[in-house]
Amino acid sequence: MRYTGPACKLCRREGTKLFLKGSRCLTEKCAVERRAYAPGQHGQSAGRRRKTSEYAKQLREKQKVKRLYGLSERQFRNIFDRVRHEPGVTGENLLVALETRLDNVVYRMGFAPSRKAARQLVRHRHVQVNGQTLDVPSFRLHPQDEVQVAPVSKDLISVRASLEALSRAAPVSWIAVDSEKAAGKVTELPTRDTIPIIAQEQLIVELYSK
Ligand code: SF4
Repeated sequence: MRYTGPACKLCRREGTKLFLKGSRCLTEKCAVERRAYAPGQHGQSAGRRRKTSEYAKQLREKQKVKRLYGLSERQFRNIFDRVRHEPGVTGENLLVALETRLDNVVYRMGFAPSRKAARQLVRHRHVQVNGQTLDVPSFRLHPQDEVQVAPVSKDLISVRASLEALSRAAPVSWIAVDSEKAAGKVTELPTRDTIPIIAQEQLIVELYSK
């Protein structure tokens, strides 16, 4: 079941910024910046509790990455089950599969301020892939795929505001963006070095390999 409670609570639970609320995440209003401890009655004393077990560390890492990409347990597990049969390092393959989802690429291209907003943009048929409207947020993109905001949707206030914010942020190296045209291209597959996610993906592999 998808979590519908306060987004900031998830970041505080994982002890890191998951960037779930768009531009607010970059301001001093960010809840992680203001209250850097877990939510709840015992949040402030959580760090002083007994030693964390290996299982708990693996579980937290999985929850963190799953929440970062806004996926349900079943969606996340399905992606893992798919990539575990691919050649290469499973943890890295998992991150590459997550990064190349259409909703994530729309977010990385700066057409939406958060992955959640990007998913909505896709579902509402405002996004085209290689010239065709596509409303499947989980669609996996490949090098040379072109993504653009549909011509009739380019003047959406949310898209314009997001692109303006993008011009002030550092883009990822495997994506080229033309913000004037609200269009971009996946130039190559991301690698672990070019995925700006702080995570120990190996812990997730260990958790699901039990
Ligand atoms: Fe997380 Fe953003 Fe809320 Fe900060 S403002 S706690 S990064 S969702």
